[in-house]
Amino acid sequence: KPTVAIVGRPNVGKSTIFNRIVGERISIVEDTSGVTRDRIYADAEWLGRDFALIDTGGITLEDEPLNVQIRQQAQIAIEEADVIIMITSVKEGVTYEDQQVAPILFKSGKPVILAVNKADNPELRNDIFEFYSLGLGDPFPISGSHGLGLGDVLDEALKYFPEDSEDEYDDSTIKFSVIGRPNVGKSSLVNAIIGEERVIVSNIAGTTREAVDTHFQTKAGRDFVVIDTAGMRKKGKVYESTEKYSVLRALRAIDRSDVVLCVINAEEGIREQDKRVFGYAHEAGKGIILVVNKWDAIEKETNTMKEFELDVREGFQYLSYAPIVFVSALTKKRLHLLPERIEEVFMNRHLRIQSSILNDVVMDAVATNPTPTDKGRRLKIFYTTQVSVSPPTFVIFVNDPELLHFSYARFLENRFRDTFNFSGTPIRIIPRKRK
Ligand code: GDP
Repeated sequence: KPTVAIVGRPNVGKSTIFNRIVGERISIVEDTSGVTRDRIYADAEWLGRDFALIDTGGITLEDEPLNVQIRQQAQIAIEEADVIIMITSVKEGVTYEDQQVAPILFKSGKPVILAVNKADNPELRNDIFEFYSLGLGDPFPISGSHGLGLGDVLDEALKYFPEDSEDEYDDSTIKFSVIGRPNVGKSSLVNAIIGEERVIVSNIAGTTREAVDTHFQTKAGRDFVVIDTAGMRKKGKVYESTEKYSVLRALRAIDRSDVVLCVINAEEGIREQDKRVFGYAHEAGKGIILVVNKWDAIEKETNTMKEFELDVREGFQYLSYAPIVFVSALTKKRLHLLPERIEEVFMNRHLRIQSSILNDVVMDAVATNPTPTDKGRRLKIFYTTQVSVSPPTFVIFVNDPELLHFSYARFLENRFRDTFNFSGTPIRIIPRKRK
């Protein structure tokens, strides 16, 4: 997915513009499982092209002076983005910070679009000429609060989007990423998994970004790619200095993955921060495996594993479909299970169910648990069909979508899960009014 980054000094209106471009999407995503997403990264769309939008202004380095922060944000934009939108403000004119950032962006060779915000009226739009002095070409007058001029900026950005070659790998190659807080053992896991297998082409460099993927093949002949191995392993300056940035990096890796290994450190148990990033993988419809690492370091009694498993289930209720694997990157115990599990989840995420079978399952379900009623009206289900895979998505044609309450949708989901092997994959059920 092409990536657009917004940079600019504080108070030029970056978040307003971010929200304008992203529209309603963020809040919709947040609703479903109470998982809050950072407002620095979101999916957006313009003229039918999907892209990712980053507000680098949300990535701050505490205790650093402003000019250092702004430089870091520019650096992150250069690393992550295909197109950069630099935002300035006509109210304040060209500032010292603008003059600092512009040449850094220019020298990167990345396409930069200069947007001059707060140009709310024609008079102000005439004042933008001084912005030519930044050397970034034509300034685009915009108004975030009035929603003016953003279309022109996005039209311009679109011109620089890479060709639609979303998938650099062929369809049978399984892309996975490994996420989790610092020190849970992500890089140890990746190294250990790769160490057991045959690395075919190591370290495929991403064309536009710093992402580095690792391609390997199992002895059974299955191709895998570890997405953004660099983001996991590189302990560079920017990576360590800001947690938000490592989260951002993880979100981007998730977007490119089929399956996500969500790693928990057995020694530390479950933390709030895990829930946020794992929740994103869930919302994004990715296959998920919960990996409990450092299991070697735990004193074990008869029920230790069972108890830990219960804690994980309790902590990640919305991931009840995800298998849990206990491993040790150190001793390599049960590590060989991971590629098998990843492959299984990948297959499940691509499962297609025939409509006739699906409708039998739904009819049986309705027979055992009648559809709900609301204000005297009963939900009627006419027909169910699977509209897509990855994740499996089902449209249910009904008399009134409002009547399909969350609990009944959950009930149907569970029946699907009892009947078919959807282990490790989210599934989506979308009610639609029959015409
Ligand atoms: P990352 O920040 O998530 O990539 O974590 P690292 O892979 O750098 O590991 C952090 C620390 O945990 C290192 O000191 C590792 O040696 C240690 N570690 C990783 N995996 C295991 C494991 O399975 N068992 C034990 N005991 N230590 C581990």
